[in-house]
Amino acid sequence: MLKKPFFVTIPARILQFPGYRPCLSPLALNLLVAGFIMAAHNATFWSLGYRVFDGMLLKQAVFGVAAFALTLLLVAGLGFRWLQRPALAFLLLLSAVTSYYMDTLGVVIDRDMIQNAATTTVTEAKHLVTPNFVLHVAGFGIVPALMVFWVRLSRGGLWRDIGATVLTVGLSAALFLGALMTDLRTYAAVLRKNRELTAAVQPAAPLNGAIQYAAMMLRTRNIEVLPLGRDAQKGANLSAADKPVLAVIVAGETARAQNFGLNGYARDTTPELAARGVINFADVSSCGTATATSLPCMFSKFGRREFSYSKGIGNENLLDVLTHAGFDVEWWENNTGDKAIADRVTARRMTDLTTPEHCARGECIDSVFLDFLRDKAEAITRDTVIVIHQIGSHGPAYYLRYPPDFARFKPDCQTPELKECSVDEIVNAYDNTIAFTDHFLGEVIDLLDSSDTVLPAMIYASDHGESLGENGLYLHGAPYFMAPQEQTKVPMVMWVPDRFAAAMSLNTDCLRARGAQAASHDNLFHTALGLMDVETEVRQAALDLTAECRHDKLSKVLK
Ligand SMILES: [Zn+2]
Repeated sequence: MLKKPFFVTIPARILQFPGYRPCLSPLALNLLVAGFIMAAHNATFWSLGYRVFDGMLLKQAVFGVAAFALTLLLVAGLGFRWLQRPALAFLLLLSAVTSYYMDTLGVVIDRDMIQNAATTTVTEAKHLVTPNFVLHVAGFGIVPALMVFWVRLSRGGLWRDIGATVLTVGLSAALFLGALMTDLRTYAAVLRKNRELTAAVQPAAPLNGAIQYAAMMLRTRNIEVLPLGRDAQKGANLSAADKPVLAVIVAGETARAQNFGLNGYARDTTPELAARGVINFADVSSCGTATATSLPCMFSKFGRREFSYSKGIGNENLLDVLTHAGFDVEWWENNTGDKAIADRVTARRMTDLTTPEHCARGECIDSVFLDFLRDKAEAITRDTVIVIHQIGSHGPAYYLRYPPDFARFKPDCQTPELKECSVDEIVNAYDNTIAFTDHFLGEVIDLLDSSDTVLPAMIYASDHGESLGENGLYLHGAPYFMAPQEQTKVPMVMWVPDRFAAAMSLNTDCLRARGAQAASHDNLFHTALGLMDVETEVRQAALDLTAECRHDKLSKVLK
């Protein structure tokens, strides 16, 4: 007979203390675990269902039976014989973790969220492991998982167990389909209109996300990077410029358009940008709702509808095209990494620095970039683009993103455990992060402006927004189809000083007028090339926000 592995025998032995241990059949244990998961880990699924079915309780109950059947199918299908206890424990722990984020923060765990989790850093992740999270996982995951190892199981022979498993899986599938067939039209319509309902079923939804993520990684593991814009060259204006260009692209983090003073927010969170006369783009939609999708998409030639993870890593991007055109390109990082965008350019990490002035609380705030930028501005002799990937407004530890004495809006939430703060305190802390980004961008502009050996410009755009408790949602990363505007509308500004505009034949009034119209991350790739006067067949004039604003092309925008 096969020896059972240690992860089965050790917990079983620990739990064999003297005394009463109930004896269950494998089927009874499966039913209990599936029932427990439906009752304890699916609060969002039930409350969402109540809203979606609009009080049609019988319909909701039958739909609930379908979800229970699906859970039982998973539980029985994954846990055959000695695999049963570890499989059940795994599912209990998984859905204890995912249900915490779903039920308390409204965070959906799908493929993209698993990608975020897989590509995050310890520094970022640690703020999500709060005391309440640990308590929840202990109570709803670890304790029931231990009970699974504690009970005794009355097994039959091999053939009886095979028969029981096949029968349970078959009957669960039949129950699942049968429940939906009672009114297929209603259920199909409900699911089509309310995809968030299926996204909330624990543990089926996160398990499905994990499988999709694994498949995506397998598909792309040996991907070859396709060249892009190898024809890129400097346009006439850039070639004729008497000083090297120093353009800074600030890739913002988690700043939402609604809380940007320049966009009409009731609080003036952006006085310094306003004072510097930046060009504001007031209606910009993001490509995704999380860094792992939005950031590579921002630098990609693909728009939101075409972009995918494999296209992102399988094609050169804006930074490569700029390199082909003869720019020096550098990526400076103070966030969770460049997501493979900067694979072929010089990269510099700020996250390991310990400068007391900027990194006193274990993580560096964005002012850490300024000394490096000052040095760079003095040293460059060639056209240069620096991408600054800031930590910006990254939550839930908003209070760590600005110096304590910078807090303009008080009282500000001082813990990553958002549920312990009022919405006002969360918004205050968040607004302080926006105000600090405004201050940081003001400093970047002043620093660039004070250098008379370069032709400076700056573009700032945030990667995605953030929910701050609206409709019970927090943080970001909602699937795009259901994401609220708080997560998809982002601030974007350009700073184009007169000397840069003159050298590049750009009309800033025209750009300002363009800023009042809708735009999106789809524009960023083409606009950056346009602003810097890089000519290449991959730059599409229709997506380049500067295209109509060159002196020789000035047309409809100003009218
Ligand atoms: Zn982000």
